[in-house]
Amino acid sequence: MLNKIPTTVITGFLGAGKTTLIKHLINNAGDRKIALIINEFGDLGVDGDILKGCNDEACNQEDIIELSNGCICCTVADDFIPTIEKLLDRNKQLDHILIETSGLALPQPLLRAFKWPEIQTRVTVDGVITVVDGKAVTEGRFANSIEAVDNQRKLDENLDHETPLSELFEDQITCADMIVINKSDLLTSSQIDDLLNQLKKDSREGVQVLKSEMGMLPTDVLLGQQAVAEEDIEQRHEVHHHHHEDHDHEDHDHDHHDHDDFQSFVISIGEIDNPKEFCKSVSEVINKHDILRLKGFMAVNGKPLRMTIQAVGPRIETYFDRMFQKTEKRETKIVVIGQKGLDQVAIEEALKV
Ligand SMILES: [Zn+2]
Repeated sequence: MLNKIPTTVITGFLGAGKTTLIKHLINNAGDRKIALIINEFGDLGVDGDILKGCNDEACNQEDIIELSNGCICCTVADDFIPTIEKLLDRNKQLDHILIETSGLALPQPLLRAFKWPEIQTRVTVDGVITVVDGKAVTEGRFANSIEAVDNQRKLDENLDHETPLSELFEDQITCADMIVINKSDLLTSSQIDDLLNQLKKDSREGVQVLKSEMGMLPTDVLLGQQAVAEEDIEQRHEVHHHHHEDHDHEDHDHDHHDHDDFQSFVISIGEIDNPKEFCKSVSEVINKHDILRLKGFMAVNGKPLRMTIQAVGPRIETYFDRMFQKTEKRETKIVVIGQKGLDQVAIEEALKV
């Protein structure tokens, strides 16, 4: 697990805003070394050119690879596996791989490819991000231009599924670890609320549904989901309606949805006596406050090693990472990231030990 390169799959129909989201992500990737696999074909795609032309040091030409022989899920053996193998064989350190699928691709067969022996020990799916055109979905079209999607279909000689748009959409939603509602600036706040609620209902439990304009989301929110999605493909086939009683509606007050800003803050506390109990509180807090990410280090009473904690939705991972230095203060520091409007006081209070 430790040596596997995390890979994020970004799916969504043509025109939903995948490329803009990726561009923003790469421009804000800090010192992460990211490679990009773009699945485009025919003469419709300009994604590769847009990304190659961004002239940012972060997007190295050789780190952008186009899969142009057709739908990624239909050309797994001939195209995807050899391409990613080649990428992994390079003598170059990579921190993350992004895959932008064509809007026609079925995400599940792509995830299954990560179980192929050629690559399964080398890469893991960090998360599936589904980008949704908020306006098109609200209007029942799913994609911005159905004509453009149909053209894309006609141009793809290798496409071996005639899946209707509504079913593809369902698949993209069921497979997602995170859903991004793009073009939210074109919707009223009650339309956004309706769509948020609908997508939360239609997706798996614990999936984060976020709204965005132009795909502007913090890199720390998009990457590092640690979903290991290739291991639970079966869960990603049908929609499970096992959501809790819709959480308190106070969580969804309107001005909280009126802007796209994110906030983060650090909580410093003392030593933790019981990490298990603490993780339980963390999990409750995440649930109650719509926290997107929570990560940091814990000083555990009586332990010389520092404990790392990373939490995404219902998944909390902890492990000891290194000794505390002699000069280092033994304390617990946790970064909390969420959309603006987080109740910092209440969160701090709930995590106080
Ligand atoms: Zn396909």
